[in-house]
Amino acid sequence: DTFDTKTLLQDLGLNEVNKGTWTGVEYIDIKGEWLSSHSPVDGKEIGKIQMTTRESYEKVLEQAEKAFKVWRNVPAPQRGEVVRQIGVELRNKKDLLGKIVSYEMGKSYQEGLGEVQEMIDICDFAVGLSRQLYGLTMHSERPGHRMYEQWHPLGVVGVISAFNFPVAVWSWNTMIAWVCGDVCVWKPSEKTPLTSLACQVLASEVFKQNGFPEGVSSLLTGGATVGAFLTQDPRVALISATGSTDMGKAVGETVGGRLGKVLLELGGNNAIIITENADLDIAIRGALFGAVGTAGQRCTSTRRLIIQESVFDEVKERLVSAYGKLTIGNPLDENNHIGPLIDEQAVQNYLTAIERVKAEGGSELVAGGLLEGEDYSSRCYVKPSVFEAENHFQIVQKETFGPILYLIKYQEFEEAIAMQNNVPQGLSSAIMTTNMREAERYLSSEGSDCGISNVNIGTSGAEIGGAFGGEKETGGGRESGSDAWKAYMRRQTNTINYTTELPLAQGIKFDI
Ligand code: NAD
Repeated sequence: DTFDTKTLLQDLGLNEVNKGTWTGVEYIDIKGEWLSSHSPVDGKEIGKIQMTTRESYEKVLEQAEKAFKVWRNVPAPQRGEVVRQIGVELRNKKDLLGKIVSYEMGKSYQEGLGEVQEMIDICDFAVGLSRQLYGLTMHSERPGHRMYEQWHPLGVVGVISAFNFPVAVWSWNTMIAWVCGDVCVWKPSEKTPLTSLACQVLASEVFKQNGFPEGVSSLLTGGATVGAFLTQDPRVALISATGSTDMGKAVGETVGGRLGKVLLELGGNNAIIITENADLDIAIRGALFGAVGTAGQRCTSTRRLIIQESVFDEVKERLVSAYGKLTIGNPLDENNHIGPLIDEQAVQNYLTAIERVKAEGGSELVAGGLLEGEDYSSRCYVKPSVFEAENHFQIVQKETFGPILYLIKYQEFEEAIAMQNNVPQGLSSAIMTTNMREAERYLSSEGSDCGISNVNIGTSGAEIGGAFGGEKETGGGRESGSDAWKAYMRRQTNTINYTTELPLAQGIKFDI
């Protein structure tokens, strides 16, 4: 056994992982059903944790509401100082956390470390932000009046996250929400419970050491039923939910029904346009990482390549040759490019998509399929595949969460943009061109309709400094950098009269 799970869990402070439901810094002694976590790397059970019951949820919420009353009054730069300390702890535990991400989720160790680095980066960003939660001042139309706006914390923020970025998405939400003065209740994916628990242990220890009450950071464990405790609860001011479009529609409806705030980060169907003016070395590398990195399980994974017909054959041949050099296997072994899919259901979805693209008339350029044998005993490893297809195929219009890439041919530039935009999702997009006119038209209002649009960079691998999210069925939410923090606060407009008169706005007269 090359991988010592027990030591890893102990080093992450999870030695009592089987004891009960973890909230802030204490276990709640209400016994829910067991949720067991199996690694897609080797199929072994990593550990198990009890799921949050309705009763324990009530305790978590009570605790969170109490903690908010304290946390909202802590000056924002002091809240930033606590987030800075969380960043230090993340640096200290970077290797361990990177390993558990890789082992429980199945992405490569390098990508696991990358996710932890993303958490560290967002901590740094949030620390600076804690001194920059700026409001505007306006000039009042009335003499002797002052007008300005200020931003206040919202309250309890519910964070629902997906399996594929089990820790980064949590940090994008919580680090920003915490400096904004909110308290967070996290419902991570039921497929990565131990990775989440490791983050919760780390953050809640820092809050404890600084003397803040349990409940600034809380964790719920379980699936959609536990997620629904949060979405239905009017005490939860904002639900930030990351996952599939189906989940987003259900969550949007429930939270909308109580007129709560919602921030949705849903599925993508991301394309790269490769024009006849592209630097093909960059284009092939960008497309390859985008399509097979994380085994195609990124919301920003490249699903479609829209290629000008004059370079189509060359791109096709070079890609097929590059696919031939990929190594698939244990993601903790740094010689492998690609690890497993998350579970056998994901494998089934992938295999079904391959059948469907064939049935719709797609031609297979690189054959996919399940890998079998001793190294693949978890039955979660697949071969990445490439098909020549058409944009209107039903299967091409859908997000398949696996390494399947569609090559689509175009003649005119307008046609390429129309095809790229002609899908229900609107997350990430890219163009490969050295022609300035093509690049600028692509970024103009008649170009890409996505939330993220790149030139000579692939569709995946965003930096934390920008606002992250997408349009249409991707849900419209923005997280992480830029001014995404505004979603975690409420804006208040204030007008102050420092005269002895009481003039009304718009010059309205009302005298008695
Ligand atoms: P999923 O929709 O199955 O689950 C996501 C989360 O939602 C889980 O925590 C799950 O328990 C919870 N959930 C599901 N139904 C719910 C309901 N009705 N009420 C409350 N909670 C509910 O998604 P997944 O398979 O974990 O992740 C893959 C999907 O996530 C892909 O579609 C991917 O594109 C998307 N994703 C999007 C982004 C983004 O930022 N846009 C980032 C990562 C992943």
